[in-house]
Amino acid sequence: MKYMKSNFSQMVPYHSKMIEDGIILNSNESPFEPPFDVKDEIKKTILNTEWNRYPDMDTNLLNEAIAKHYGIPKENVTCGVGSDELLDCMFRAVLNEGDTVLGFSPSFSMYQVFSELALAKYIPILGDENMQFSIPLMIEKIKEVNPKIVLICSPNNPTGQYFTKEEVKRVIEATDALVALDLAYIDFAYEDYATIALDYDNVICFKTFSKALALPSIRLGYAISNKDNIDMLNAIKAPYSVTTLTQKIGSIAISKFSSYQGQINLIKREREYLYHELKKRGYQIYPSEANFLFLYMDDSLYEKLLENKIYIRKFKNGTYRITVGSHYENEKLLEVLK
Ligand code: PMP
Repeated sequence: MKYMKSNFSQMVPYHSKMIEDGIILNSNESPFEPPFDVKDEIKKTILNTEWNRYPDMDTNLLNEAIAKHYGIPKENVTCGVGSDELLDCMFRAVLNEGDTVLGFSPSFSMYQVFSELALAKYIPILGDENMQFSIPLMIEKIKEVNPKIVLICSPNNPTGQYFTKEEVKRVIEATDALVALDLAYIDFAYEDYATIALDYDNVICFKTFSKALALPSIRLGYAISNKDNIDMLNAIKAPYSVTTLTQKIGSIAISKFSSYQGQINLIKREREYLYHELKKRGYQIYPSEANFLFLYMDDSLYEKLLENKIYIRKFKNGTYRITVGSHYENEKLLEVLK
């Protein structure tokens, strides 16, 4: 990359291959389309779009719909092009060159990338021999490295570990650093505690429409925090980034959240089924509260899945992440892994 500045010379473009045919269990997507009533409303709204006008850059109606879902003021919400955009804004807004960011590892790979783009250092905290992350250890590390940002992904991508509200509170109350709670998968877990951000001034919660709401296609994420932190993200965000269509579709989806409950419950049931089936077969696999499972597997089995057009995500040292699919897809996976 001829014109890339030297700090970034080791950067590799983020890439996930577009798969058109087969069983796609590599990106933590929903195996289902949005529910019928959501799609029906979307169809109607497309006809009423003012195509020749810029979007509402303050995403007012969408913020209102999200705020209503949580019973909070709309001033505590902002939206972006996926939670990726808002995470990126936070890193760029907060970090100076040489600052540190603390988080568990393995976790969502973009945390490290965003840290490096801000010329900061991501300090990883590893799990124990059972791939479990420790909150007391995180608190110890906070005292040791004095980070500017502490990241908790709950449930954690890719390991699936869920941190309770009490656990994250312990971290928040142990530091003045900004605590970023990435709750991308929390709709599949015990409790969505995104409003916790309003009880403190050092917390931003990030959520996405890409997972439980089955809308990665529209690229929409949001942050919940106090007004000051929301203003900070808005100051950095590109103008008009969230399209009119995305805003309309997002408003419909979140206001019809209850229509999704059936498919969310189904994914949770399938997750437990897949976990127990794989555990019974002797795989080293970890309990998960997300829509994916993390396990050790022989590389030859991965090759066999690929031959059968079943795509899962390969990580380091023989670890893999399998997105929970529909029952049919999960059965196919289990059949090939027999
Ligand atoms: N956080 C986590 C933990 C993720 O896994 C992802 C996407 N895979 C994101 C954030 C970004 O999601 P999006 O940009 O689609 O909202």
